[in-house]
Amino acid sequence: MTELHRADELRQRLQTELHQTQKLESLGSLAGGVAHDMNNVLGAIQAVTQTLKALHEADPQLTSALDTIERASTRGRDLVQSLTNFARKDLRGAERLDLNALVREESELLKRTTLKRVTLDLDLQEPLPAVMGERSTLGSALMNLCVNAVDAMPGGGTLTLRTRSLPQGQVELSVRDTGLGMPREVLARAMEPFFTTKPVGKGTGLGLALVYATASAHGGSLILQSEPGQGTLAQLRLPATHEDPKAKVAPDSAGGPGDALNVLLVDDEELIRTSVPGLLEVLGHRVITAGGGAEALDLLAGGLQPDLVILDQNMPGMTGMETLKRLRVQHPKLPVLLATGFLETEAAELLRQDGHAACLAKPFGLSDLRTQLQAIFQRIRA
Ligand code: ADP
Ligand code: MG
Repeated sequence: MTELHRADELRQRLQTELHQTQKLESLGSLAGGVAHDMNNVLGAIQAVTQTLKALHEADPQLTSALDTIERASTRGRDLVQSLTNFARKDLRGAERLDLNALVREESELLKRTTLKRVTLDLDLQEPLPAVMGERSTLGSALMNLCVNAVDAMPGGGTLTLRTRSLPQGQVELSVRDTGLGMPREVLARAMEPFFTTKPVGKGTGLGLALVYATASAHGGSLILQSEPGQGTLAQLRLPATHEDPKAKVAPDSAGGPGDALNVLLVDDEELIRTSVPGLLEVLGHRVITAGGGAEALDLLAGGLQPDLVILDQNMPGMTGMETLKRLRVQHPKLPVLLATGFLETEAAELLRQDGHAACLAKPFGLSDLRTQLQAIFQRIRA
């Protein structure tokens, strides 16, 4: 009987987990779609603003107004970024990280803000294997878990942050509180996006959904244990890395394309085709635009010889990657920047194999363009 019961429980748990994953995935593609469109809108605003700023440096009133527009669109970009975190499967900014260092940093922040009535306990294993991860994303995941823990202890209590190396090549970061805990129904839905038991204005219901998405994106997992009155334990498990730390090459900021480039800009979005050329012209380049992959290939077949192609990934008909594959038949060494809000793993892999292509995160501004142009020409020369 116990065996049967256990099997049934396991089946139910797996079903819940599957349901959870499916829900998060559909939210992910929804968020991804919205983010893509918003990125184009914000990209256009940023491009025009920065072009105007570069052209009217001498006018302080205009400059300050443009600064405000730029700040607002940067805020918009950050918002979109946090949305795309749901949808992203790659980790563009992944680096070797010491979770202990991350815990210490975030706990400094906690001490200065929320931790008046809560005792903070650090239980960090030294040395701890490194993980590959995005510092800011993992930092906000940890912060989300801590905020939940603190929220659950209105009358005070102890918040324990613990790190351990697990036998299966994983590193665990756990957040334990001695707070209210969760009844079964709440625990079952806690990771759902927009599920919250907190009053309007206090909870968004996105905290644990984001932590879960972050864990998955890192190839890890999030485990929650909780009982009413017994507090809550959240375990974030990430794969340990054994990569050589020296393998990371430091980017060299010197040098650049220098000369004026002939750029072919391929984007289905008219807003981008009318705004980004201004930016490129401010940088001293000349621009020809195409509204899609087919049009771009036609231009190239017709004898156009650009020094660089900026190729939007997310286009109807032929995607950027598809266009790139076809373009490579005739132009194996033409420098290409693939512009994308977020990159699918498959595309990222193809890009890595192509020595003359790189990724350009959307939306991009003047300095992103300058840096990416420098980076790709440096890589090609190397
Ligand atoms: P939010 O904090 O905005 O409500 P979360 O996704 O972070 O959204 O959490 C969802 C819900 O899960 C919370 O509203 C709360 O009911 C429950 N929860 C999360 N963490 C804890 C915790 N440490 N202790 C008790 N309940 C928690
Ligand atoms: Mg929360």
